[in-house]
Amino acid sequence: MSDSEAAPTNFIRQRVAADLSGARVSEVVTRFPPEPNGYLHIGHAKSICLNFGIADDFDGRCFLRFDDTNPEKEEMEFVESIQRDVRWLGFNWQDRLTHASDYFERLYEFAMELVLNSNAYVCSLSAEEIRESRGTLTEPGKESPFRNRSVEENIDLFNRMREGEFADGEHVLRARIDMTSGNLNMRDPVLYRIRHQVHQITGDRWCIYPLYDFTHCISDAIEGVTHSLCTLEFEDHRPLYDWVLDNTSVSCHPQQIEFSRLALDYTVMSKRMLTQLVRENHVSTWDDPRMPTIAGLRRRGYTPASIRLFCERIGVTKKDNRIEMSLLENCVREDLESSAPRRMAVIDPLKVVINNYPEDLEETFSAANHPADAGFGTREVPFAKEIYIERSDFMIDPPRKFFRLGPGREVRLRYAYLVTCTGYDTDDNGDVTTVYCDYDNQSHGGNAPDGRKVKGTIHWVSAKHAIPAEVRLYDRLFMRENPVESKQHHFSEFINPDSLITVTNAMLEPALASAENESRFQFERLGYFCVDEDSTAGQPVFNRTVTLRDSWAKQRGQGS
Ligand code: ATP
Ligand code: MG
Repeated sequence: MSDSEAAPTNFIRQRVAADLSGARVSEVVTRFPPEPNGYLHIGHAKSICLNFGIADDFDGRCFLRFDDTNPEKEEMEFVESIQRDVRWLGFNWQDRLTHASDYFERLYEFAMELVLNSNAYVCSLSAEEIRESRGTLTEPGKESPFRNRSVEENIDLFNRMREGEFADGEHVLRARIDMTSGNLNMRDPVLYRIRHQVHQITGDRWCIYPLYDFTHCISDAIEGVTHSLCTLEFEDHRPLYDWVLDNTSVSCHPQQIEFSRLALDYTVMSKRMLTQLVRENHVSTWDDPRMPTIAGLRRRGYTPASIRLFCERIGVTKKDNRIEMSLLENCVREDLESSAPRRMAVIDPLKVVINNYPEDLEETFSAANHPADAGFGTREVPFAKEIYIERSDFMIDPPRKFFRLGPGREVRLRYAYLVTCTGYDTDDNGDVTTVYCDYDNQSHGGNAPDGRKVKGTIHWVSAKHAIPAEVRLYDRLFMRENPVESKQHHFSEFINPDSLITVTNAMLEPALASAENESRFQFERLGYFCVDEDSTAGQPVFNRTVTLRDSWAKQRGQGS
């Protein structure tokens, strides 16, 4: 996949270009290494666009590698969703789908090399004791009493760990580096631990599992990765990444380069928190349209192009910053503005009776599917004596600048006629139940016969042709820009109670009856909407992706 415009450059692309031109590497190989313990989120999209994008642009290769070294938390559902999401975003790993578990045997061999060279030892302290002896930023760590076990003893114990002779936690394999290092990651980090746990791919073949810092660099090297791109929290792990590669016979030494994580306002971004939102039923599923997951954004109506555009706009730097939600929303608006056909729908219907329109007349008006692109074609919109308009387009006592309907006021029904309000009915609460209008039968198509100015244009749906629908109005999931910054409050306390408003009696123009799952439309003046998978033949369900930036009337006036 590559977009028509060249992606803007960033420090990583510049580095890759320099490595190619300086012949430090002869081709570019990257990888996207998710742990299958949750669905991918928009932060992962940044990493996917970077890794796959660089490989595409430099004629290189990118692996999709599952970092599946933690069998307790990993599930097939996540493995499948990750592949679906990467593909949907527009990227292709071709035959380069791998798993860290593919390399368990070789990882074991490389670990054994470390043992043979006295670079690793079996430590029999408990996890607690290891943590306590690690020291702090200001104090050195204490060497393990098992640090000087003989090579023979270490080989024997490590083999027996693999054979399953010991219980979880009884021993670990540790690198033998430097307990006084200023970098805590270098204080004899644990490389392997015992976990009698069935793995989704390797089953019960292993009861020892390698840790991230050992697994990742070797997996990168085995795949011939040239640039191992990861987020900033791994910067302090780079010396260990390099140490493992320098002290094993693996024949390739990738360059680790760090960049800042994406953080987005009004949402949370770690899989741990997203898992909590799902488990505690704050949202319905991982693909709930309020979730910042790729699957959620997709269901919300985001397009792959809009997410790629967003990733391009935010850029890649080493500086941590939070991105405004409006930047993401503007990307989808921009894409849908040119790609989504227009339709009319009324979300909060108010009935209008046109007094002087013949009882049994029906007309159809031709409406452009896109105001700026004739290629979208037109559709026929039926019109009859009773229509629905948006409740908010009528006021009993409107201010002067309200260019919509009110007693005595004239307005244009988009594509159809000019109508003037002659009266209205209310119920016992004073709420308007019906509005009455006269139409100008010379204003066919909405054009004034005498050229008189009619400022307001509103959308409508013919009552007897309308398709009733459920419309889900989504808003930001959290009320706070940063829901996790408070020490006293749990982030779930800041969930926006109005993040989902379900409207069950919206009225759609008939052309929307057969809209396919996931198809996207602009409902004129209201926003962009997408067909949800919960739709049934009799009752379509639409999700609001995003509202329009400006009102439709202001943007284009009438007659397009
Ligand atoms: P989380 O903290 O959300 O659980 P993670 O880093 O543990 O994320 P992984 O599955 O390990 O999730 O991530 C796969 C890749 O995606 C890693 O290279 C990671 O650096 C990158 N990544 C994860 N979150 C972000 C983010 N917010 N912005 C950019 N890249 C990210
Ligand atoms: Mg991780």
